[in-house]
Amino acid sequence: MKIGVVGTGYVGLPTGVGLAELGNEVICIDKDENKISSLKAGKLTIFEDGLEDLFVKNVQNGRIRFTTSMQEGVENADIVILAVGTPPNPITKEADMKYIHAAAKELAQYINGYTVVAVKSTVPVNTGDSVEKIITEQHPKGEFDVVSLPEFLREGFAIHDFFNPDRIIVGANSTRAAQMIAKLYEPFAGKTKILYVHRRSSETIKYASNAFLAMKIQYINEMADFCEKSGADIYEVAQGMGLDSRIGNKFLNPGPGYGGFCFPKDTNAMAYMGRAYGVNLSLIEATIRGNDQRKINMADRILQTVKDIPEPKIAVWGTAFKGGTDDCRESPAMQIIQILLERGAKITVYDPQAMDNARKILGDSVAYAPDMYTAADEADVLAVLTEWEDFKTPDLQKLKSQLKTPKIIDLRHLINRETAQANGFEIFSLGIK
Ligand code: NAD
Repeated sequence: MKIGVVGTGYVGLPTGVGLAELGNEVICIDKDENKISSLKAGKLTIFEDGLEDLFVKNVQNGRIRFTTSMQEGVENADIVILAVGTPPNPITKEADMKYIHAAAKELAQYINGYTVVAVKSTVPVNTGDSVEKIITEQHPKGEFDVVSLPEFLREGFAIHDFFNPDRIIVGANSTRAAQMIAKLYEPFAGKTKILYVHRRSSETIKYASNAFLAMKIQYINEMADFCEKSGADIYEVAQGMGLDSRIGNKFLNPGPGYGGFCFPKDTNAMAYMGRAYGVNLSLIEATIRGNDQRKINMADRILQTVKDIPEPKIAVWGTAFKGGTDDCRESPAMQIIQILLERGAKITVYDPQAMDNARKILGDSVAYAPDMYTAADEADVLAVLTEWEDFKTPDLQKLKSQLKTPKIIDLRHLINRETAQANGFEIFSLGIK
């Protein structure tokens, strides 16, 4: 099939590459000229495990191309996938539809023969209707259908998740469009549950899922706080809870709060939609408040370990919002760092993949270390904020020789406590007294 993918970010690029690998002819369109010239030159614009090999392979065999021209990407496409951003409105926190609406307007005139416009971006309920209206206004004779095709991939596992989705949700209000999407996903038929639902249900499934997962994270974080006070061990509690198949063992890791480009904005957008429809989404509202507070609490916890030092020097391992990605957007690590800076700490950071993105946000307010041990140089405490594999088994003696005081606050529970203690470290973890 001929596919146009509008937006080559964390969703659009892996999706385009994945669809090319499945044998489709893909054209990725982005209005960001720097991204397109980099991709055309064979240079990836994001870090995703496993992306590079597939990218190189499909560029070489000509199945994927990159352009800034909407016309080039849309005019011969059977399916045009919208994967542009839907950032939060800075004041109301509702999802801002300006990129979606602009892309719909730009692509409409190039629709040529029956085309399915599939909205992969996370969009509020009824966006399919507004996209349909915009395209019809621009191109009244255009033959098209708008489908909701929400994306569930996890950053850091985008390629894995593309080829092994838990489920594929298709919100199509026409049989013709549903058949086109069925053809696109034929390679998954029989392996993955493909659920066909009303377009508005599909749009809602994405937000309802992300809000539920965010709530689960906030729940286990509150349980971790409880365990710390009561003397229970959150990891044993989580393990016991997870054995109940109704609960499941995923998303039961306590940490510094949820972050990234999706959960914070999607919980806020869902809460906004609840208020707009006059529905009390109290669990989601409480989750958002709790998660915001958590970053402050975590900064307090770190500062507690250096409370007697006037201008503490803190080493931070990890700036990405989670391991496996270079994405620092809404990263709890970044938010904690910013609070620590406001409170007068001096910070040196290290992240295996996200240094460039961290620098874009933090500028000169922190120092950047070339490796994890240098980051710890002369620091009063080491704070582990992102769950990178590299941080799990450090050379503890080397680390100890770098730090001013052998103190670790491990907000991701990566470093084995007993081993660290045996090596002379004072180590703090969440959810354990
Ligand atoms: P992103 O910011 O990384 O990428 C969006 C891209 O769209 C940018 O490169 C931008 O230049 C481009 N763009 C914007 N307007 C355009 C236009 N008119 N024409 C061409 N290109 C245009 O965003 P992302 O992280 O890939 O997220 C995209 C959507 O997918 C969002 O709605 C997000 O909520 C959703 N989503 C993201 C993830 C994730 O893990 N990042 C997961 C599931 C769903």
